[in-house]
Amino acid sequence: MTTTATPSTLPAAWIGNEPVDAPGGGLEVIDPSTGETLAAVGIASRDLVERAVRRAGAAFDDWADTTPVRRDDLLNELAARLLEHKDELGRLEAANTGKPLHVALGEVDSAADQLRFFGGAARSLEGKAAREYLPGRTSFVRRDPVGVIGQITPWNYPLVMAVWKIGPALAAGNTVVVKPSELTPLSTLRLAELAADILPPGVLNVVAGDGAGTGNDLAASAGVDMLCVTGSVATGRHVLRNAVPRITRTHLELGGKAPVVVFGDCDVRRLVEQMKVAAYWNSGQDCTAAARILVQDEIHDEVLDALTAMVATIRVGTPFAEGGSDMGPVISQAHRERVLGFLDRATEAGARVVAGGNAIAGGGWFVEPTIVTGVTPSHEIVRSEVFGPVITVEPFTDEQHALELANDSDYGLSASVWTNRLDRSLRMARRLRSGAVWLNDHLTVADEMPHGGAKMSGYGKDLSSYAIEDYTVVKHVMARID
Ligand code: NAD
Repeated sequence: MTTTATPSTLPAAWIGNEPVDAPGGGLEVIDPSTGETLAAVGIASRDLVERAVRRAGAAFDDWADTTPVRRDDLLNELAARLLEHKDELGRLEAANTGKPLHVALGEVDSAADQLRFFGGAARSLEGKAAREYLPGRTSFVRRDPVGVIGQITPWNYPLVMAVWKIGPALAAGNTVVVKPSELTPLSTLRLAELAADILPPGVLNVVAGDGAGTGNDLAASAGVDMLCVTGSVATGRHVLRNAVPRITRTHLELGGKAPVVVFGDCDVRRLVEQMKVAAYWNSGQDCTAAARILVQDEIHDEVLDALTAMVATIRVGTPFAEGGSDMGPVISQAHRERVLGFLDRATEAGARVVAGGNAIAGGGWFVEPTIVTGVTPSHEIVRSEVFGPVITVEPFTDEQHALELANDSDYGLSASVWTNRLDRSLRMARRLRSGAVWLNDHLTVADEMPHGGAKMSGYGKDLSSYAIEDYTVVKHVMARID
C-alpha cells in the first residue's frame, strides 16, 4: 500500500481496491486558508462511473452473504486503520477544508467511532420473528441489503460525511460507490486507499469529479439501487429527477436553517457559550448550525449584547495557526462571495450588521463572525441557508409567536429551545417541525442517535440504527405450514 499524505496528483477513482487514473484535465483542489493549490485529482468519466457501479454490483452477493460479525470485524479494522493514520488524515482534512487542526483530528476520531458503532449495531439488526397471522401459514420479516448504493457527499465534513454514508450501508451488507465533493475529495480517496487491503474488492468504490458531471452520471446509472445525497436542496432535486425513471430509492440529507428559541427564563450565560460553538463551528458551514436566534422581548437586548461580546472572542485563523484558532475560512472564494452577497442584500433590505460582516483581507477565504439584526421573517437572510458564520437575531413575544416564527421555514432539520421550564420545552419539542430538537443545547451529535430532516431538509436518517435500517429492504416471507 502506498502512502500519499498530500500528493500532487491523485487518481480519479478507486475501483475494486485499485486506483484508476483518468486521462486529461483534473480537479484543482485548493487550500481555502491560503488559496493555494493542494493537489490535482482526476475526474471520473461516465465510463469510469459505470465501471465502478458494475464492480460494486459484482461484489454485492458475496458481501451480502458475509456474516454480520465478519462485517463488524472489517469495519473495526478500518476504524483502527483510520486511527493509525489520524495525524495524516487530520492534516489532510484541515488543509483541504481550512478548519482548525484540532477539529479535523477530532473528526478522525468521530469517523472511527462511527465505523465501530455501525459494525456493532448491524449485528443486532433484525427483522420480525415468525408468527401465524392466518390459519395454516406462518410469516416472518427479513431485512435484506438493498444492493449497490450511490452516495454523494458534501465538502463541510468530507471524511465524516463519507463515513456516515459508507458505514451503515456496508454494515447492512450493501456495496457502495461514493462521490465526494469536487472541493474536498482528498480524505475520501485516502479512505479508499486505506481500506484497499481490508475490504474485499468492489465493496467500497470512490469516483471523484464535479456534481454536474460525475455526480449526475452516478445518479443516472441504471446499476445503482439506491441514491443517497448529503448536499443542497438543488442537488437533492437533481438526484430525485434521476431517480424517477427506475423509481430508485432515495435518501436525502439536505439543507437547514435552524431556529434557536430563547425564552426569558433561560440561562443566558450557557446559551451564549453554546452559541459560540453552534453558530460558528466549522465557520457556520454545518447543516444544523444555529442560524435564526429568536429571543423573547424581555431579554432581547441582554442576549444581543452578550452574543456581540462573545463573537469578539472568536479567534479566526488558519488550521495550523500557532496557539490555535476557533474558526477557519469558508470553503471557497465563490462561497465567500455568496455569503457576503447575502449580507449586502440584507442591509439593502433594511437589516443591520452589528458584528463582523466583512471579508478578512489576506490569503484565504475568511469571513468575520457576523450578527445581523433588524430582520423580518420575509427577509432572504432569514429564509435562505447562508452556510457561513452568520446569525440573525430577532425578537418574539410569547410561546405561540416563537413557534410560528420557528416553523415558518422551508427547512426542518434541527432547532433548539432554551428555557428552564420543563413543560414549555417539552411542548415546544413536540410542536417544532424538525428532525431534531435540542433542549438547552445545540449542535451536539451522538453516533447512536438519528440525524435527518423534515420538510425540504429531506428524509431518511444518518447515524444510529435507523440509518442501517434505511439501507435495508423489509421483506415479508410467508410459508404454508398446514
Ligand atoms: P452541494 O449540493 O453543492 O454538493 C453536494 C454534493 O452533491 C457534491 O458532491 C456535489 O458534487 C454533488 N452534486 C452537485 N450537483 C449534483 C448533481 N446535479 N447531481 C449529482 N450530484 C451533484 O452541497 P455542498 O455545497 O457540498 O454542501 C452544502 C450543502 O449540504 C448545504 O445545503 C448543507 O445544508 C448540506 N448539508 C446537509 C447535511 C445534512 O445532514 N442534512 C449535512 C451537511 C451538509
